[in-house]
Amino acid sequence: MSENCIFCKIISGDIPSFKVFENDKVFAFLDINPLSKGHTVVIPKTHCERLEDLPEEYSSAIGSALPKIAKAVITGTGALDWNLLQNNGKSAGQEVPHLHFHIIPREKSDGLGYRWKPT
Ligand code: IMP
Repeated sequence: MSENCIFCKIISGDIPSFKVFENDKVFAFLDINPLSKGHTVVIPKTHCERLEDLPEEYSSAIGSALPKIAKAVITGTGALDWNLLQNNGKSAGQEVPHLHFHIIPREKSDGLGYRWKPT
């Protein structure tokens, strides 16, 4: 865990979150500034900034958890479709330097378009 990381503080409970899923290696919570209803952020329970730095045990755990979390999110929201998005580094739009995956439920004509962070 990293002392000044907001997502590490969410894992520890020092910053409150709306939890969607948790196991020993993965944590998921609702995005505080959602692009759509049910926008969920999935993170490893180890501090790591980028996907290429993620230890194998955590990548396996996240790979296994993502489909289950996505299924719960689309069931809960009623959305038929969804995006999986993941940014690495500031140039790619990463704002929080703790690796995370966005699950973004989608509806026809939701105005988000087909690119991350519409301008
Ligand atoms: P990024 O641009 O891929 O780094 O996305 C970071 C995401 O984290 C953004 O969608 C933010 O809205 C979200 N976020 C930042 N702080 C919090 C928080 O305290 N709780 C929940 N989501 C957060």
